[in-house]
Amino acid sequence: MFVSENLGVNNAGHLTIGGVDTVELASQYGTPLYVMDEQMIRNTLRRFHDSMKKYYNGKGEVHYASKAFSCMEMCRIVASEGDGLDAVSIGELYTAYKAGFPMEKVGFHGNNKTDEEIRFALEKGVGHIIVDNISELRRLESIAAELNVQPNIMFRIKPGIDAHTHDFVKTGQIDSKFGFALETGEAFEAVKEAVNCKNVKLYGLHCHIGSQIFDIEPFEEAARVMLAFIAKIKNELGYEIDGLNLGGGFGIKYLEDHDPAPFEVYLERVSGVVRTECDRLGVKLPTMFIEPGRSIAAPAGITLYTVGARKEIPNIRTYVSVDGGMADSPRYILYGSEYEAIVANKANEERSEKVTIAGKCCESGDLIGENMPLQHAESGDIIAVCATGAYNYSMSSNYNRLQKPAVVFVNNGESRIAVKRESLDDVIRNDI
Ligand SMILES: *Cc1c(COP(=O)(O)O)cnc(C)c1O
Repeated sequence: MFVSENLGVNNAGHLTIGGVDTVELASQYGTPLYVMDEQMIRNTLRRFHDSMKKYYNGKGEVHYASKAFSCMEMCRIVASEGDGLDAVSIGELYTAYKAGFPMEKVGFHGNNKTDEEIRFALEKGVGHIIVDNISELRRLESIAAELNVQPNIMFRIKPGIDAHTHDFVKTGQIDSKFGFALETGEAFEAVKEAVNCKNVKLYGLHCHIGSQIFDIEPFEEAARVMLAFIAKIKNELGYEIDGLNLGGGFGIKYLEDHDPAPFEVYLERVSGVVRTECDRLGVKLPTMFIEPGRSIAAPAGITLYTVGARKEIPNIRTYVSVDGGMADSPRYILYGSEYEAIVANKANEERSEKVTIAGKCCESGDLIGENMPLQHAESGDIIAVCATGAYNYSMSSNYNRLQKPAVVFVNNGESRIAVKRESLDDVIRNDI
């Protein structure tokens, strides 16, 4: 009935998430409110790591891409499932560190890491640094020497795969700010330099072709390209690569007609390609890493809003305005992304209207979405926007000096606060 399987309707006709009444959540914690379903996060992590066991003999690790949704409680949940983490900034590293995350299970990414970030990552003992470019390799080599450590590194490679997704979230093609290009020989030159570095160990290769990808073929193709490169490195340099990180990017269902391939099928097919190619090329089976972000966080989350003004413009459209907007839900204004919405206190009723849900920020583009099927919404109703667990809280801002909403986790019929709502004093806390 709804786009995410953890949503339901209770006897009061209210929308539930993980069995908890969303209308009660809204009244208990206020709106806007991010709600995350802990059990669903755990289930999805298990689907990934169980498939890794089943289809790849467990010779691999799942690293949750924390940029999708990062807070200390999320890090604790991932750690308790035994999975790893991917971080792209000192802030994400710090969050994991303060949450007690085992830092040897963290991969540190970023196309423009600062010396401060590199130093922090090395001091905290992250498992891998995914090196993006040659100047980073050289800086890392000298900082590692200074700190007397020998980090494992992976190289981020652009495999030259065109994933069919939004231009802003495509990353595997040659015209990308991320990684070393294969076609030009840039990646091979960097590998030659790295295998002679004294203070870093070239452990693996990494690629990430984009996000919200529904098909499996681009992932299979990327695996083929990467293994061909691993074989070239072995044949020409006599150097064996231990790890292959195939990134994240698995698509999720935002709308009823979205039909992403199940993660199990992805892992079965990609594992198959990796084995076949290793046999064919005569290279050893690498330890495999995947980095799902959106697929773990997005379906587990919803955002709750309270309806304020309703504006019917005859023959044009109806605006239903809510108490949040682009500051807490930036994906519409960034990518024109679409969501399913439900009036939480009328969840049993037909979605009989098509409306534009607008935010309260001073931008005409500040919308949650257009042409959204919705129950008749009036002032005081609670609207739930579905599958907002990824790239909403993590991309939120204080635009218009709005306070960032709270994040609540639900589990076993209970709710608990994981991130407090910002106070007015938080809004001015750094002002002098
Ligand atoms: C963003 C990103 C991911 C996660 O992508 P999703 O689409 O959220 O799964 C994984 N790896 C890298 C390097 C990324 O930049």
